[in-house]
Amino acid sequence: MSNTRKKSAVVAGAGGFIGTHLVRRLKNEGYWVRGVDLKYPEFSGTDADDFVIGDLRDLKVWDAVLDRQFDEVYQLAADMGGAGFVFIGDNDADIMHNSALINLNLLTLAGDRNVGKIFYSSSACIYPEHNQLVADKPITAEHTAYPASPDSEYGWEKLFSERLYFAFNRNKGLDVNVARYHNIFGPEGAWIGGREKAPAAICRKVAEAKDGGEIEIWGDGEQTRSFLYIDECLEGTRRLMKHPDFHGPVNIGSEEMVTINQLVDLVAKVAGKEINIKHVDGPLGVRGRNSHNELIRNKLGWAPSEPLIRGIERTYAWIEERVGDAKSNKVAKVAAKTAKK
Ligand code: NAD
Repeated sequence: MSNTRKKSAVVAGAGGFIGTHLVRRLKNEGYWVRGVDLKYPEFSGTDADDFVIGDLRDLKVWDAVLDRQFDEVYQLAADMGGAGFVFIGDNDADIMHNSALINLNLLTLAGDRNVGKIFYSSSACIYPEHNQLVADKPITAEHTAYPASPDSEYGWEKLFSERLYFAFNRNKGLDVNVARYHNIFGPEGAWIGGREKAPAAICRKVAEAKDGGEIEIWGDGEQTRSFLYIDECLEGTRRLMKHPDFHGPVNIGSEEMVTINQLVDLVAKVAGKEINIKHVDGPLGVRGRNSHNELIRNKLGWAPSEPLIRGIERTYAWIEERVGDAKSNKVAKVAAKTAKK
């Protein structure tokens, strides 16, 4: 019989996209996992051993969640979404207030509860706008975060919270670990409803379009981004958490930079369709962004390397199925209505 004690973890935000996958990964690694979120995962059951439905802006919820000593806490809960949620200005107060409260609450209790290690998911959105004005040469090496000038309140909150976690490390001895995620995508992410990001939104639009059809893209489509498939995001996260003395902040992202027009072409290729692009006004974010992976390579001896097309293939297949289901539900509803008449 093995003497090794089962490790335990809390995943805050376990009903969300990355949280759902992280719970699955930790379970596969043999952890006992407690998830917590406002909601259960939308597209699958949770693999967590225990799942608390609760609002982490409320300290009492954290108090109940941290009712014993945990080896690791992954803090992923945040009020977030794609450009259509983060960059329009209408949600700034909620984004800053809700996410900051969640982080403050965890840190209020983590020391007393002897949490082993804390992981905090920061974002590429903390990088200064002035270093990302040119599409083909964005600068996102970790040390270039200062002097700070993120282009969204979402980015400012992330930067504040990064600093908050490291202040608790210096003054209260907490073991904190911070990664700056760059555009994570994959199956079971938001794909409709306004909070979806570019890869999911484009997969949906292409799946809905006819061969030879047209889809709308915000801006001229020459803005650049890189996108990281969920499995490599989790690999980087786990490697950071296992490292004995490197704590970040570190970029976890892909260095395969594409324009949004190129992303559409890639999705169309995967779908086997001819797709035309109509450029329309919409919220854009910075002009260029890519991950800079020298630090992760040096410190963790690893960096994401999977070609973007592999992740797009899996994500497109998942979204195409959802679009198909939505269409047949609509047809069924219309048929039921017609039958009633
Ligand atoms: P998500 O929106 O799918 O998941 C976040 C989860 O937090 C949601 O399920 C939501 O219900 C939960 N939540 C929000 N407020 C809460 C509250 N008050 N109490 C309890 N739960 C609450 O987002 P995601 O893509 O899984 O992102 C996870 C984390 O990674 C977030 O902190 C996000 O800012 C960060 N991040 C994500 C990306 C990305 O591309 N997905 C990029 C950079 C950073």
